[in-house]
Amino acid sequence: RCDTAGVIAGVRRAAEAVAAHRDELVDLDKAIGDGDHGENLKRGFGFVVDALDSSTFDTPGAVLKMVATTLISKVGGASGPLYGTAFLRAATLAGEAPEIDVVAALQAALGGIVDRGKAVVGDKTIVDALAPAVEAGLGGATLAGIADAADEGAASTVALVARKGRASYLGQRSAGHLDPGARSTAIMLRAFAGGGS
Ligand code: ADP
Ligand code: MG
Ligand code: MG
Repeated sequence: RCDTAGVIAGVRRAAEAVAAHRDELVDLDKAIGDGDHGENLKRGFGFVVDALDSSTFDTPGAVLKMVATTLISKVGGASGPLYGTAFLRAATLAGEAPEIDVVAALQAALGGIVDRGKAVVGDKTIVDALAPAVEAGLGGATLAGIADAADEGAASTVALVARKGRASYLGQRSAGHLDPGARSTAIMLRAFAGGGS
């Protein structure tokens, strides 16, 4: 479980990690997309940090809702609306409660991404990192174990041919590259869990 201060700290760590991995995410997206993923996310989370610095948030749900609306309005491309929807679903689940169940929040987030993007495991997307992370959490894994599962899921995308998003335009040529969105999900979960990257 995680209270408001815990969620704020976790989101701040995720924002730092996204900024630290900006170039890596750009390079991954250059290989099979248009090269904007790292910059998109860094900018979006920059606005999130600005909001955390300038406002107070009384509940985890209020924090998650601010992250959602910021990502939806400030981050372009496929990933902004997808991550935005993920945070929005987590916020809706959280409601006004003083604490959230992190695994339930991740499960809600995955549901939002799947509803919005229609990707399944194996399509070489965010879902390939987030679905195994949720599964690990439901199986009782710690936050670090959840992040490990996301790392493994992201790594599994190297072998895959993309069936969703820009990378799918490349067909077979998308194989042999790590999916940028799966990687950013793994980076954020590792940061939220409190580890390095
Ligand atoms: P764009 O491709 O519009 O430039 P980004 O570069 O920000 O957007 O994000 C690309 C990432 O979005 C991909 O690496 C992939 O993980 C993810 N993605 C794309 N389409 C989908 C989808 N339908 N469902 C889940 N994730 C997706
Ligand atoms: Mg892109
Ligand atoms: Mg783009």
